[in-house]
Amino acid sequence: MTVVSKEMRGNIALLTVNNPPVNALSHSVREGLANQMTALAADDSVAAIVIACAGRTFIAGADIREFGKPLQEPGLLEVVNQIEAMEKPVVAALHGTTLGGGLEVALSCHYRVAVPTAKIGLPEVKLGIIPGAGGTQRLPRIAGPANALDAIVSGRHVSSKEALAWGVIDELTEGDLVEAALALAASKISAGPRRTGEMEIDGSEFGEDFFAGFRKSIARKTRGFFAPEQCIKAVEASVSLPLAEGLKRERELFIECMSNPEAKALQHVFFAERQVSRIPGVTKETPRREIKKVGIIGAGTMGGGIAMNFANVGMPVVILDMQQNALDRGLKVVRGNYERSVKSGRMTTEQVDQRMELFNGTLSYDDLSDCDLIIEAVFERMDIKKDVFTKLDAVAKEGAILASNTSYLDVDEIASFTKRPEDVLGLHFFSPANVMRLLEIVRAKETSTEVLATCVDLAKKIRKVGAVAGVCHGFIGNRMLSPYGREAAINVIEGNSPSEVDAAMFGFGMPMGPMTMSDMAGLDIGYMTRKSLGRENYETRANDWMDRLVEADRKGLKVGAGIYDYDEGSRAPKPSDFALNVLEEERAKLGITPTAKSADQIVERSMLALINEGAKILGEGHAYRASDIDIVYINGYGFPAYRGGPMHYADHLGLKTVLEKIKAFEAEAPRWWKPAPLLEKLVAEGKSFAEYDRANAS
Ligand code: NAD
Repeated sequence: MTVVSKEMRGNIALLTVNNPPVNALSHSVREGLANQMTALAADDSVAAIVIACAGRTFIAGADIREFGKPLQEPGLLEVVNQIEAMEKPVVAALHGTTLGGGLEVALSCHYRVAVPTAKIGLPEVKLGIIPGAGGTQRLPRIAGPANALDAIVSGRHVSSKEALAWGVIDELTEGDLVEAALALAASKISAGPRRTGEMEIDGSEFGEDFFAGFRKSIARKTRGFFAPEQCIKAVEASVSLPLAEGLKRERELFIECMSNPEAKALQHVFFAERQVSRIPGVTKETPRREIKKVGIIGAGTMGGGIAMNFANVGMPVVILDMQQNALDRGLKVVRGNYERSVKSGRMTTEQVDQRMELFNGTLSYDDLSDCDLIIEAVFERMDIKKDVFTKLDAVAKEGAILASNTSYLDVDEIASFTKRPEDVLGLHFFSPANVMRLLEIVRAKETSTEVLATCVDLAKKIRKVGAVAGVCHGFIGNRMLSPYGREAAINVIEGNSPSEVDAAMFGFGMPMGPMTMSDMAGLDIGYMTRKSLGRENYETRANDWMDRLVEADRKGLKVGAGIYDYDEGSRAPKPSDFALNVLEEERAKLGITPTAKSADQIVERSMLALINEGAKILGEGHAYRASDIDIVYINGYGFPAYRGGPMHYADHLGLKTVLEKIKAFEAEAPRWWKPAPLLEKLVAEGKSFAEYDRANAS
């Protein structure tokens, strides 16, 4: 099969790229385009050229299978420069998603026509790199530096309408795309090529202030990332340098990205997201159940948000609570959330009304009898879960999936309250459930493959990343959070202030430090858990000082006082003299001479605790892959994606080093720092978590 075929339409050569599924820029496509251009340049019977694509899209980007391999000539930059240099007009015909290298090809063409549904974009930044084949130099020339910065730094998809307004697309057609492209090419024969690279930018508007302003506007969102700043520098170069020099600068900045750990981390995340929905034993042929109507039990913090996910994709939901006022309050919160979307312009009032029509509140279990999926989100107590699941078992129709949103409780036990444990599993949403992308899908002992497969697909449908976890205390995410929190609290009792510990973790890239997070979650929750556990079952040194705060009615943000103080109506933590005094007293009681650790030491201790627990979870089979754990931490806990997740970060540090350090902690506190057996095994075999995943995949 010819990957880039040619067909003459009168005196216009129509090139068709055909490299399914997305016409990625594999070596054969680059070579095909280059060879065709060489031949067409020399062919006097050709007056103009159209580049179009077969299948569902124009070239949608690089070929990810070539990532990390040595480049096979010709490189894309050579090809796009060759296209742009053609003396005959070249028109690109765009449909589907013209992304990355695909857009760089289109920008090197002299004119562009598109269908209205087409989208364009330069998403390289999401993989920790910058466009490396002229995208950062050509897009600002044609769309202006402001639009180019927006597109390149966000990596977002730009609609054809916007691209038309930016001048990137010359014409939109409702008719046949290729015919429109041929007509545009014919009309440009006398005008000849219009080269993007030769366009001038009036730099006077785009001086230092302009770029400084842009940097400021994205600072919060891109904190800690490397590639966005490289993108900005590249666009800056497009304003001040001629094309050839700008392209050289782009190459330098691109190479710097490639050698930064962020690129490797973000590419790992990219592949991890694709892996996470692959479930051993589940194939395309595995039967799925149809989910058309969803029931939610509990209209509290979680129930309303969970319900919104289903309503947002058009599914009717029935919400049940014990009392009318709880139900009313829950539905009011849902409406309030949608109304905020009206204020921000993302929804209209009519849409909110339509959406709300999908919600039905009830106090009667009978109203759940026609639901295909029922998710329980009531108080976190086994006796209450038992009551709910017993009732559910009596009313739910045959084949309905019964799920619990429990954070910690044993889903096997919950399933045992029904006569259909194969239909029961955990669907653990994260707060706020309508916002957070993560869904832990907890596979219980008897959950059927069919139910699991249905929920994995459902996660995608409601736009979540679903990661499968086994039944253990806290599943993947919350189980790992526990040692992380313990070590953070130990850092405090041993001599650092809560603010220092928070600042260290914030500096590492976490969205907030563990002390602020504890205040937000409510210190009373851990307090109650510890009381039920008994003192012999937790590290008292880490927690006694926090218990004293709860006993002084400092339960956290919700009461305006916890580890920190909060001004009325403010969520900003302020150091608290009271809490610091409690700390000093507790240190004295324990005979601790406070020694403050450096930020690096604080981070190291917390991260190693996280990694060790992750390795235990993996070794025990409660996660399928190390990369699934990374997905959980990035999407559920805000772990910085540019570090690839805790397990990828462990590979980056080197598992041998990780184990040595854990062993040093073990010598001090053997009970809490027992190295994960899997970690010891991998180190003995000289392997990484990535290699472990690869070995298990084959
Ligand atoms: P919540 O207290 O805000 O809401 C619970 C709701 O359940 C209340 O409206 C209550 O009236 C209702 N309810 C209690 N018993 C009931 C019964 N027998 N029948 C019907 N309704 C009943 O609690 P929440 O924070 O939404 O947590 C719910 C579940 O979700 C818990 O299992 C919790 O562990 C889990 N969870 C919570 C979070 C979180 O951040 N809040 C995150 C993940 C998971």
